[in-house]
Amino acid sequence: MRVLLVEDEQGLVLTLTDRFRSEGFDVDVATDGKSGFEKALTGEHDLIVLDVMLPKKNGYDVCRDLRQKGIETPVLMLTAKGETIDKVLGLKLGADDYLTKPFEVIELLARIEALIRRSPHSSSGISADSFRFGAVTIDFKRAEVSRDNEPIDLSAMEFKLLQHLIENRGVVHSRDQLLDAVWGYDAMPSTRTVDVHIAWLRQKLEANPKHPHFIQTVHGMGYKFVN
Ligand code: CA
Repeated sequence: MRVLLVEDEQGLVLTLTDRFRSEGFDVDVATDGKSGFEKALTGEHDLIVLDVMLPKKNGYDVCRDLRQKGIETPVLMLTAKGETIDKVLGLKLGADDYLTKPFEVIELLARIEALIRRSPHSSSGISADSFRFGAVTIDFKRAEVSRDNEPIDLSAMEFKLLQHLIENRGVVHSRDQLLDAVWGYDAMPSTRTVDVHIAWLRQKLEANPKHPHFIQTVHGMGYKFVN
């Protein structure tokens, strides 16, 4: 996950940069609209968090010009309190969502997650149908997984778990969250079930299952997928 943060408030830049990094995102920062626009033009970001009131070039102009240049990276705009007209304008100019300042960082993260999930352009190597990491290729539509072009057998639950981790990569999941998301509220497996399935996935997909590169343990918290 690569995020471009275009924001001129130093305090907010520090807070958000710290938080994004702790979520496992790569963060690029631009503190004015002009350099933000130039960085966004590279097209290498999965998401742009774009303030409206910026030196040199405002957020609306940045967003409009990016869309005109064919850059489809999802944009989440940060508007000042009560600027209702701004929100409408932002969406018209091609922003995908907006958040009004001041906001809770947790709210911003939730919006980001939602945007990423519904974006067909998101992250390195992923399309709606397939995903690649290391020597592994996953075809989500066919529910097929291969490693070095050899088919790998995954159980339905292993596949669901892997898909959930990948769709939410960079995010730390507790065992309970994984149980709810993958096995469902009605199922009654123990958190040990999660550990066992994680171990199986590592065994099947990691080059060195004892030192997993992609399916990582976050001590005291749970698991996350990183690529
Ligand atoms: Ca500003």
